[in-house]
Amino acid sequence: MAGKIKYLMVDRELCIGAASCVALYPEVFALDDENKAVILKKDGIKDSGKTDVDMLEVSAVDDDTLMLAAQSCPTLAIYLYEEDGTQVYP
Ligand code: SF4
Repeated sequence: MAGKIKYLMVDRELCIGAASCVALYPEVFALDDENKAVILKKDGIKDSGKTDVDMLEVSAVDDDTLMLAAQSCPTLAIYLYEEDGTQVYP
């Protein structure tokens, strides 16, 4: 799956800080001081809000790794969307 995922988001209410997303894709996910996952964006911005993959700090996002990271989340807190807004996961 290449270039299919256009947006990602973390639901902070669901995130329990298990950090498997961080382990699988540390260029995209990190934990903040509340032990919730944030998305690493350009210009050092870190938050959990819906993010265009073009705004990520990492220059070329790998869809397969992003999907693996989302699938690794025990509470299904990572949402992935296509360009037209269709939810790809979960
Ligand atoms: S894997 Fe899920 S629960 Fe764990 S830090 Fe990432 S988003 Fe949060």
